[in-house]
Order: sequence, then C-alpha cells, then structure tokens
Amino acid sequence: MTRKSGIGDLVAPPVRGLHPYVPGKPISELEREYGVRDIVKLASNENPLGPGPRAREAIARSLGELGLYPDGNGYELKTRLARHHDVPIECVTLGNGSNDVLVLLAEAFLTAETEAVYSQYCFAVYPIAVQAVGATARVAPAFGPDADMPLGHDLDAMAQRVNERTRLVFVANPNNPTGTWIGGKELRAFLLALPPTTVAVVDEAYFEYSRWAGLPDCAGWLGELPNLVVTRTFSKAHGLAGLRVGYALSSPEIADVLNRIRQPFNVNSVALAAAAASLDDAEHVGRTVTLNRSSIEQLGQGLRALGLEVLPSAANFVLVDLGRPAGAVHEGLLQRGVIARPVGNYGLPNHLRITTGTREQNERLLRALGDVLGSGA
Ligand SMILES: *Cc1c(COP(=O)(O)O)cnc(C)c1O
Repeated sequence: MTRKSGIGDLVAPPVRGLHPYVPGKPISELEREYGVRDIVKLASNENPLGPGPRAREAIARSLGELGLYPDGNGYELKTRLARHHDVPIECVTLGNGSNDVLVLLAEAFLTAETEAVYSQYCFAVYPIAVQAVGATARVAPAFGPDADMPLGHDLDAMAQRVNERTRLVFVANPNNPTGTWIGGKELRAFLLALPPTTVAVVDEAYFEYSRWAGLPDCAGWLGELPNLVVTRTFSKAHGLAGLRVGYALSSPEIADVLNRIRQPFNVNSVALAAAAASLDDAEHVGRTVTLNRSSIEQLGQGLRALGLEVLPSAANFVLVDLGRPAGAVHEGLLQRGVIARPVGNYGLPNHLRITTGTREQNERLLRALGDVLGSGA
C-alpha cells in the first residue's frame, strides 16, 4: 500500500508558506564545515564582552536551584524592572527573549480578519509572527538610499497603511538590520495619531546603545498612550543572548492579556537571576556602550576606506552596501574565519550587516574584508 503522508495539507494554512528565521552562523558550525579555527563572529549583534560580573555571579549562584521550576511570575525581576522604569509591576510582562513577547502580541491581537503594519527592511521576526497567525501584513515602503535615514522607517508611509482593521503596528527604534532611528518628537506624534483600535509596539532592543542619538525612552509615554507596548531585551547590551530573557512594558490590561497566553515558565531560573543582577549594572553597560561607540567609528572608517558605503547606526552593528551581491563576499569572509550577516532575506542582496566587536575583532573583519575584495569577489 502506498500512502502519501500529505502532512502539508494538514498544516494550518498560515503556517504553510512560512520560512524559518535565518540566524547568524554559529561558530561551531563554521568550525565543523570549514575546518577553520580562531573564528570571529560579528553576525548576531551580541555583546563582545558577554555578561557583566554581577550577572556571572548570579548565574553561578542560581545553578544550585536548577532542579526546581523557576518562579513563574518572575517576581524578583519584575519588581526590579518596575523600579527601573518607574512603572507599576502590573505593567511588566517577561518573555523568553523579547522575541517571545513579540509573538505573544501577534497571538493576542491578530486574527485572519485583521492587519498589522510594519516597514520594509524591518526586523524579520515581525513578518513571521504576523504570518503565523494568518493576519494580513501591510508593509510600508522604507526611505530610499539617499534619505537622512537610508532604508529607515517612513512613519508617514506607515500611518497611511493603518485602518480600522489594523491591530498591531511594529516600530523598531533603532531598527535592525538598518541601524536607522526615529527621533522622539516624530515618533510621539505618530503614536498619538493612531486610532484606539491599534496597539503600537515600539521595539527598543538596542535602547542602551542608542542614548547618544537622543532616542526617546518610550516607557515614559505609557501613561498617555494606553495602547503602547515597549519591548526591551537582555540579549544585546546586557550580553545575555544565550539565556533568552526580554520583556514588555504596557498598560496592566495588555500585560494581563499577554500573561494569560504565555507559557507558565517561559523564562528560566538562570535567566531570571542573571537579568535581575544585570539590570542595574550601569558599569558593565557603560563599558559596553563606550566600546560600541569606538567600534562604530573604527568600522565606519575602515569600511569607507575600502570604498564602501556605511549606513548611520544607533545600534551595535553597521549595515554596509557592498555595491555587489554579498554572497561571494560573505563566503570569502567565512573562509577567513569571520562570520558576518548577509541580509538577502530582508530584500537587501548587496548589503552585509556587521556587529561591532572588540578592537581586535573589528580589525580581523576589516583585514579579511579587504583581502576578499582585493581578490575580486
Ligand atoms: C535582537 C532583537 C530583538 C530581540 O531579541 P531577543 O534575543 O529575542 O530578546 C528584538 N528586536 C530586534 C529589532 C532585535 O534586533
């Protein structure tokens, strides 16, 4: 008897056309596949310093409790976050990375009959989360390459796509993979003009890195914008990407909805402890941000010296226009033990996203790239 499983027909229609998120290549994979050593990974916007000393200590202490379930309410971390942001604890929702919170928002507010608005070249998780629940995506064209914020969010174009069916709008500030940002005045006006039937998500994953550019701390607007959700993460400046912990700040009503659908233990106990210890480690975040600023300079200068165009960035990475398909260049870098991030899946086939590293790591990248470009890739 021959019977085809036909599992595709059984899959929920919105899921059938989904493509998985493409992560940065792990170091171990490059070692395995290419047999190279001493690898520099500048592909996933990780902090080259890793976690700070307070987080490391908390992680070590937490290992004794691994046999127990974590605190499902994350009381300690939520209390600290509430104090840190000066909001009631009822406004905080914890997630397994902020990615978790973004997916919860899509599950909570979107249906096949409703719509979500985001920008061209936005963070890849938004389209996946929207498509997975069968909602319609309205994609606003981004600014052109010659704008002040090349390829950045065009809030007017986004506002034009909001209608009575729009339940979610995603704004990343600064945005990944472009590094571009939106000033406070403009963003506030955009949010204030949204209808009461739309929930606005402002993704501040790179908040700590972006202070110098005068980006707004949108959590301060929660009082006057009841439909605002601000997401943050410990994966970037706090250097805890491997532990997976992020959070949302919102009205208590929205937080209550998210808490009803999240997994009961969505944040593990090591992550809870590390995040609580890291939150107010201003020294480590300060060191991280200072290193990042000089790395942005170093990479910008080095890349421009290679004749390449670099976009402005308020984050811990730069997007560079190679002026040719990035595939061969990326491949050449891999062969030289350097992992960067091609962004063809974002519709940017000629660009490469490069995370800031230590001075030495940046030098490795620049040398390898010069080498690859010189070899005619
Ligand atoms: C990295 C990133 C996130 C979150 O990552 P998590 O590790 O899931 O917290 C969210 N938004 C943007 C724009 C990012 O670049």
